[in-house]
Amino acid sequence: MTDHRIVEFRVHSVSIPAKAVHSHGSGDVGGINSVLLELVTDSGLTGWGEAAPWPVFTGTAAGNAAALDIHIRPRVIGHDPVQVEVLMHDIETALVGHPEAKAALECALLDLTGQIAGLSIAELVGGRHRESVPLSFSVANPDFARDLEDIARIWEDGVRIFKLKTGFAEHAFDLGRLEALRETYGDGIKLRIDYNQGLPTYDAIRRIRDLESFAPDFVEQPVRMTHRAAMAEITRAVDVPIMADESVFGPKDALDGASARIADIFSLKIMKSGGIRRTIEVAAIARAAGIEVYGGCMFETSVAHGAGAQLMAAIPDLRLGCEFYMSSYYAEADIATEPFPVRNGQVHTPSAPGLGIIPDGQVVKRYRTELRE
Ligand SMILES: [Mg+2]
Repeated sequence: MTDHRIVEFRVHSVSIPAKAVHSHGSGDVGGINSVLLELVTDSGLTGWGEAAPWPVFTGTAAGNAAALDIHIRPRVIGHDPVQVEVLMHDIETALVGHPEAKAALECALLDLTGQIAGLSIAELVGGRHRESVPLSFSVANPDFARDLEDIARIWEDGVRIFKLKTGFAEHAFDLGRLEALRETYGDGIKLRIDYNQGLPTYDAIRRIRDLESFAPDFVEQPVRMTHRAAMAEITRAVDVPIMADESVFGPKDALDGASARIADIFSLKIMKSGGIRRTIEVAAIARAAGIEVYGGCMFETSVAHGAGAQLMAAIPDLRLGCEFYMSSYYAEADIATEPFPVRNGQVHTPSAPGLGIIPDGQVVKRYRTELRE
């Protein structure tokens, strides 16, 4: 027990427009609609977390704001923030689903605990295996000419990994974009493919084989999240590694997915697993099964990106990079007081005590919304 107690629990819904719409196999997204959580202690410390939902994938901003406001608040006010697992276990028992709200709470608790202990979150949850992780940018503009301009600009910043969002248009469009990028950048570009469940399951194997000649590192979530037997069949049938994203949320999904070998790689996301610690459990199951992991994210601000960067530092094996590019290249504005630490194509994990990302109150206010979709 410490002598710190949580006395304020503030929920801020924010809506930040994107510079350009991103298209996916599961639909278009024009901005970040997320929920920031600000915890304040009687000792004057402030901890931040974020719930970043995606309605076609996890949940809604409205649902998570209500989960925080109504169900989580009374279980947290008056408590010692360092009792992270005790509080999380209590909330997991009391509230089903809403992994994004749980991730927001856990991040804010770890932010406070880190400040109290004088340690970064990565150090609190295991240590720093690395200081930075290669960044992947997602190519998702239906207007490919604009994507090519963005890629050329981002290439200048040192980014060498690009993930094509596929399956929202014709198969020929996907093949043409891959061909153009390979021709322009040769072997120096690392290409990945993410269908976001967009392939028709009956024809998935043949279409993925068509892409293999462009040498992608992996193909992510080709078919519907519930088509797990098909995921396993595709993984066995093609040479390119298959990644499960929508099909693996928390540790139980990871255990089932590893047993059925539904993929070669799992995409780790704190918004799916309900926090950093549960995501480390997913990574541990993957590691035991010989499944690779990757640093995924949702449509989020630099608060959730910061939590992701802390997680990435603490994961033992990480060879495929991460995709925390939203605050640098997608959102109209970064809400933090300092720009999210992307330098030379690498995401750097903040080393300050706690999360190491501090939102700017004025910017949060500017993007605050009552609109809860
Ligand atoms: Mg994905």
